[in-house]
Amino acid sequence: MAYKIETNCVQAGWKPKNGEPRVIPVYQSTTYKYDSSVEMGRLFDLEENGYFYTRLANPTNDAVASKIATLEGGVAAVLTSSGQAASFYSLINICQAGDHVVASNAIYGGTYNLFNVTMRKLGIDFTFISPTATEDEIDAAFKPNTKAVFAETLSNPVLAVLDIEKFAASAHAHGVPLIVDNTFPTPINCRPFEFGADIVIHSTTKYMDGHATQVGGVVVDSGNFDWEQNDKFPGLTTPDDSYHGITYTQKFGKGAYITKCVAQIMRDYGSIPSPQNAFLLNLGLETLHLRVPRHCENALAVARFLESNDKIAWVNYPGLESSPNYELARKYMPNGTSGVISFGVKGGREAATRFMDNLKLAAIVTHVADCRTCVLHPASTTHRQLTDSQLEEAGIGADLIRFSTGIENKEDIIADVAQALE
Ligand SMILES: *Cc1c(COP(=O)(O)O)cnc(C)c1O
Repeated sequence: MAYKIETNCVQAGWKPKNGEPRVIPVYQSTTYKYDSSVEMGRLFDLEENGYFYTRLANPTNDAVASKIATLEGGVAAVLTSSGQAASFYSLINICQAGDHVVASNAIYGGTYNLFNVTMRKLGIDFTFISPTATEDEIDAAFKPNTKAVFAETLSNPVLAVLDIEKFAASAHAHGVPLIVDNTFPTPINCRPFEFGADIVIHSTTKYMDGHATQVGGVVVDSGNFDWEQNDKFPGLTTPDDSYHGITYTQKFGKGAYITKCVAQIMRDYGSIPSPQNAFLLNLGLETLHLRVPRHCENALAVARFLESNDKIAWVNYPGLESSPNYELARKYMPNGTSGVISFGVKGGREAATRFMDNLKLAAIVTHVADCRTCVLHPASTTHRQLTDSQLEEAGIGADLIRFSTGIENKEDIIADVAQALE
């Protein structure tokens, strides 16, 4: 029976048999015991499902990955040790030196560095475009060696809402998948597969965990992209010599992308989360459907307060009618976007940091999207590697304050903002 998302937050993934623990156990073991070498050999050949080494698979991690695949409406998922690893895996699973990716320029600073610096060194080229690019502008960014389009559904920290259908149509017209980072809306507020995205990644460090206890990521496959429609993805459609000549699409069908991501990419790069972290992540997921609406309710109240205050230069929250993203947000995230607001205090960079230093309830932390209200100044922290012109291109002014509204009482949060502005 298919359950609704609230039920799946609580129950999906772990299905205990008679007499087994009701709560997902932490399988804190690197290794698994077999009676004969022949049995273990069949696992290595991917002839049978089973566990042999935690770098490749672990029951705790698998149950949590399966829950997230269900929440996104995908066919399979793999947990990674960070959101950064998830972004990297999503691309390196289908790209190699000499390939090219079209990416939105409104992305998390860490992702931008991963693509623009580290992956370029591996020989993978990127063209960055605006999330507001027209169809023609998106089309113009493609090259014959383009293998994917990458963007954030709700970008960090600019809060641009992606026109998922438009980007998916362009990607598909060029025979490549659309990969989206859905960290901020979470599947509670946006399910990108329903609009044509093919692969979803998350930093589970943020709302999914929700309590700032573990760093993690996940890659989820919709199972909808046809890798055999052209010859762009030989890693999936031709024999893998490092796995006894398996052709992933032939042997695993809709499971091809995630199976390759585990059997080859995780085997070789090894960014596996600890099962203890997967356990903590699962505790967060169990209340995701309760927390996310509260974050949104509180954020809208704070955004309206800021908008009406004359010490504030500008407010960007896609839930405000004044936001250029309001219509896109209504279409793709009708129940709300996230708890994150960006705004500028009159007086620029110096006023921004002075305001932040005076906050009492909201803490200055390098984090976003957990249950406690927090603030960050991207220009001097997460995005400090970017030059002024790169900052401007990415839409991040020197005065931008990223305010991550928590799930405390909204009147207390607003009172804190008000006293700091005074
Ligand atoms: C934090 C973040 C990442 C990176 O995730 P880590 O878990 O910190 O590695 C990627 N994308 C978005 C949108 C993020 O907010």
